[in-house]
Amino acid sequence: MAGRMRMRAEGPRISVDNERCERFGLCEWEAPALFQLRRDGRLRYRRRAQPHEIEQAAAAARCCPMQAIALTGVTGR
Ligand code: SF4
Repeated sequence: MAGRMRMRAEGPRISVDNERCERFGLCEWEAPALFQLRRDGRLRYRRRAQPHEIEQAAAAARCCPMQAIALTGVTGR
């Protein structure tokens, strides 16, 4: 048996606080692969970024005027 060692090739988890989000769409501007404002006004986003998307996800979180985006599980920095 190989034990419980797991190679994690995953980026951070993304969560958006719907109470804070005002649907400005700046996150989509920064990271369109991760965030999309839908025609019905709802924000759609991926719950998990890939490792190569960490910078985009971080930029989206930084630019959010409501500080509604949280990234968890960011490692290495
Ligand atoms: S930038 Fe922030 S407030 Fe605007 S849509 Fe994205 S999560 Fe919501």
